[in-house]
Amino acid sequence: MKFGGTSVADVERIRNVARHVKREVDAGHEVAVVVSAMAGTTNQLVAWCREASVLHDAREYDAVVASGEQVTSGLLAIALQAMGISARSWQGWQLPIYTSDAHATARILGVNGDELLKRLRESKEVAVISGFQGINKETGRVTTLGRGGSDTSAVAIAAAIEADRCDIYTDVDGVYTTDPRVVPKARRLDRIAFEEMLELASLGAKVLQVRSVELGMVRQVRIFVRSSFDPPEKIDPHRNIPPGTLICDEEELVEQQVVTGIAFSKDEAQISIRNVQDKPGVAANIFGPLADANINVDMIVQNVSSDGATTDLTFTVPAADFERAKETIASAKAQIGYERLDGATEVTKVSVIGVGMRSHAGVAAKAFRSLAERGINIRAITTSEIKFSLLIDAVYTELAVRTLHSLYGLDRS
Ligand code: ADP
Ligand code: ASP
Ligand code: MG
Repeated sequence: MKFGGTSVADVERIRNVARHVKREVDAGHEVAVVVSAMAGTTNQLVAWCREASVLHDAREYDAVVASGEQVTSGLLAIALQAMGISARSWQGWQLPIYTSDAHATARILGVNGDELLKRLRESKEVAVISGFQGINKETGRVTTLGRGGSDTSAVAIAAAIEADRCDIYTDVDGVYTTDPRVVPKARRLDRIAFEEMLELASLGAKVLQVRSVELGMVRQVRIFVRSSFDPPEKIDPHRNIPPGTLICDEEELVEQQVVTGIAFSKDEAQISIRNVQDKPGVAANIFGPLADANINVDMIVQNVSSDGATTDLTFTVPAADFERAKETIASAKAQIGYERLDGATEVTKVSVIGVGMRSHAGVAAKAFRSLAERGINIRAITTSEIKFSLLIDAVYTELAVRTLHSLYGLDRS
């Protein structure tokens, strides 16, 4: 069972979480719990690091931000003990959860679940584990997994102890066709395929950290997303299970729609290079330096030149890397050879996702027409087997998402 920040935002909510845990224990299950920091805590800790020094040591950043989860794991253990349930807290370094040494974005390399299993079996002791954190074996230093990383902690631990399920409790009762805060007509999905969830998460839906979905897919962990704000005993009358969304293999999907969901990301920036030399090696001269600078390039659009000499090239980068990307290109101007550099940050990438697209033609064409009718200009397009993405002006984000949501029949009736 994993509980996110809003679910553990104060002591009363932690007591509510303890009631969810008690229900599972009373039903005879062996339970490991992963908790996030209280809502807002990690942001505060990050802000303090920046305030202390804009350029700070990533190892010390991790020492600071990992502390949020230490508080909630201890508090939940206390709340459980107060209900008469045997429980203890575990920090990442205590299990241990081994990670790479990429501080602030560390990857989990291995989880030792032996002691957890032993205690679950021998004394029914509930393990309350701090999410988001681990330790690097070589350096012995505390690491963190990147924002939203507790989801990944939970899936990794579930895999290590061969749990039957990994239930992710959050502030919505499942995965919706799009962010329910933006589209009130969004519908909860009973099931979604790992691959679709992977696309949704990586294209902007922050309900699960991307790596947690990847890990669930590879290690075959059944992930069930549900709400901690639903009463502990609530049951969906149609399905006779609690309301929520199961993330599972494609074969387990019951009904197959062409489009499953829509994601959007405002953290994008567009860069256009005008009148680039149209000759072999130019793309390498542009994207090589960007890769060396660790800047992820996403959508790339290049025209076929009309004069046989020069063309325009457009691509997107994370908004946070916009200035750095422009500087990188500008300092490689001599090798690249271009006339002008344009950029835009007020852009959004809207993505339409569904495994059903593999076997249906013309899915994207419908979207182009529908957005055109609303006067929304498309700046760039990318497609893959199970999704397509459109770059538009940020002011049209809500309109575009709602339009596409209705267009593909996703609105709740
Ligand atoms: P937690 O603190 O529990 O980890 P998060 O804030 O990380 O919770 O994730 C839950 C939020 O994800 C929801 O409140 C919702 O606004 C947002 N969200 C974005 N896209 C979706 C979606 N497709 N389905 C459900 N929630 C979504
Ligand atoms: N507390 C961390 C964050 O806010 C990890 C998490 O909540 O998953 O990013
Ligand atoms: Mg989260």
